[in-house]
Amino acid sequence: MRLLPALFLLLLTALLVLSWHGLAVLYHTETQGLRRMDVKASPPMLWIEVHDVSPAYGTAELEEITGVIDRHGKAVDRVVLFVIPNHAGATPLSSYPGFARELKDLAGRGYIIGMHGYEHSGDLRTPEFMVNRSRAIELVEKGVEEFRRAGLPEPTCFAPPSWRASEEAARYLRSVFQHTYYLLYIDTGNATLPYRSHEYTWYRLNMGGLRAAERDYDSSKGIFRLTVHMEAVNTEENLLFLDRFLSYVEGRKDEAAQR
Ligand SMILES: [Zn+2]
Repeated sequence: MRLLPALFLLLLTALLVLSWHGLAVLYHTETQGLRRMDVKASPPMLWIEVHDVSPAYGTAELEEITGVIDRHGKAVDRVVLFVIPNHAGATPLSSYPGFARELKDLAGRGYIIGMHGYEHSGDLRTPEFMVNRSRAIELVEKGVEEFRRAGLPEPTCFAPPSWRASEEAARYLRSVFQHTYYLLYIDTGNATLPYRSHEYTWYRLNMGGLRAAERDYDSSKGIFRLTVHMEAVNTEENLLFLDRFLSYVEGRKDEAAQR
């Protein structure tokens, strides 16, 4: 068989056997030399990620989100607050002791305080961590230093802004953090958790709502990742969505426990 038709046939077979997400994970594990680490849990665990946690938005907005999560302790297995150490180069955490105190309090109550970039500079085309290794080291060290100055524990989780990091930055991030969160998977030191992020709350945009979230949760196994962005989730409607979805997950877990 000629090479091109053979390649096409191979790709078609792969597409039929694997989902686009499965393919993305396969590509990532193969090119980065990682192993795939599936988790057995049904109904799935719920891991929440709160992105863009920043003193620029204030303590009250953060409390609106954590207030809802706190009401549904049974639904949630893990919450990471992804904090920007120096948002836009203008809001270093150490200059906001009230906000840092709130984070410390949340850490004491089981919330994981992760790091989300350093300044969260750049945009979708020029993300902050699409850089070489030495620049990535410089940014992480500055971020960790800012955590230290603010009296926060050293972060063990990291999410690059726009979910993207260059290959060499990704390798470095894996060597420093227990978990690095991307859109389609979460890296550990030498493995990938093949679970993608789900987000349903973006200002006033219709992202599918409660029905879509319930359907996605019910068709997932292992870990279900729910992502919310500070500010984007802080509308009455979106906070209500969060409350209702967490109630739904609680109900699912209760049912499973009674079986
Ligand atoms: Zn972000």
